[in-house]
Amino acid sequence: MRGTVLHGPGDIRLDERPDPVIHAPTDAIIEVLATCVCGSDLWWFRGVHLADKPRIIGHEAVGVVREVGAEVRTVRPGDFVITPFLWSDNTCAHCAAGVTSSCANGGGFGALDRDGHPVDGCQGEFIRIPLADGTLVAAPHPENDAMLASMLGLSDVTSTGWHAAVSAGVRPGHTVAVVGDGAVGLSAVASAVALGAERVIAMSKYPDRQALARELGATEVVDSRGDEAVAAVLDLTGGIGADAVLECVGTSESLNSALTMARPGSTVGFVGIPHDAAPPVSRMFADNVALAGGMAPVRHYLPDLIQRVLDGWTAPGRVFDRVRPLAEVAEAYADMDQRRATKVLLRP
Ligand SMILES: [Zn+2]
Repeated sequence: MRGTVLHGPGDIRLDERPDPVIHAPTDAIIEVLATCVCGSDLWWFRGVHLADKPRIIGHEAVGVVREVGAEVRTVRPGDFVITPFLWSDNTCAHCAAGVTSSCANGGGFGALDRDGHPVDGCQGEFIRIPLADGTLVAAPHPENDAMLASMLGLSDVTSTGWHAAVSAGVRPGHTVAVVGDGAVGLSAVASAVALGAERVIAMSKYPDRQALARELGATEVVDSRGDEAVAAVLDLTGGIGADAVLECVGTSESLNSALTMARPGSTVGFVGIPHDAAPPVSRMFADNVALAGGMAPVRHYLPDLIQRVLDGWTAPGRVFDRVRPLAEVAEAYADMDQRRATKVLLRP
């Protein structure tokens, strides 16, 4: 089969890879219908994270089950399924507490499982899914490309934006500020709206992303960052600050801005992968501003989010602004690296 491998900074290739086989009775093999490039893949692509050997990459996918091990009970060959960006048993103490991303028996794609067998990356034609019952969730086969894109969004980007909004305690009537205008930030805007926010202030300097944020339900756009953005949000909220802030970038500047524009007693939901970010603990202490969130427990959210998509929530798929065949995966990385696209969907 063909699978994506990062050979070095800027060097992404679709290589010939071994077809996956069932190793454990809890495994399933899925054929990928759609996958995509994540903002976090770009950290590797740009060489911010350095791999010492070629890296099998990609962690978001939807597909059709082709084969299951003898102990798999919840999915069958032919089922359409969504995989979270991590695999999990969904039964350990951490999973039972809703933190499936910290599963005691789980792991990630493109690495070895706990028995030493390779787990494929998701930017390829087939994937062996360990612990299939605890990882995959089946859904009706998508009726059209838009629904396929929305189901793919749930694999990571939508669920991550959702986690920011849930962690920040977004409630009906809230004024919510969203820091970050990438696919996760835009998903966070849509999530805040879905959870009943009355006003959603999106921060973006790019006209196309500002327009999409408004389409997804943002009521105001602030086209600055840092201290200017904080001042703008305070101005828009009568000097009070936002009732909830969703931090979807992960830099020191964005985290500081988020914690400074939050009203006293509120919570910042943070889902941007932190890079040397130090939160302003003095401000947090003085004004009782909390920081919650982290890596999204996608498996925990999937049943609810799938139902929302089936009920007509189209926002998840709208962050994909370009579709390419998997053969053009290198171009897809370049699209996102050079900001020609917010998020690229790939079809094997
Ligand atoms: Zn677990």
